[in-house]
Amino acid sequence: MQKINRKCQGCFKVQNRELMIKITKLNNGLLKINPSSKELGRSIYVCKNIECIKNLIKKKRIKSALKYTNANEIIKIEEELKKMLPC
Ligand SMILES: [Zn+2]
Repeated sequence: MQKINRKCQGCFKVQNRELMIKITKLNNGLLKINPSSKELGRSIYVCKNIECIKNLIKKKRIKSALKYTNANEIIKIEEELKKMLPC
């Protein structure tokens, strides 16, 4: 499989995309974690790592990196991210 690297929005290190969580702003305006390959939109990545997810949330990177302003949707996705990893 082709190795594609992406920057983590928590620690800003560049890593293999396969090891990361993808957050996509779908064309319908909603956010989705790890969308299928058919679901396209502007995306950001974060390591599968609780510290990176905490940083992503603390620094409001979903809002700034995705230029996304739907606060309710951001909260929903942040809760989903937290549930993916033990705190
Ligand atoms: Zn990271």
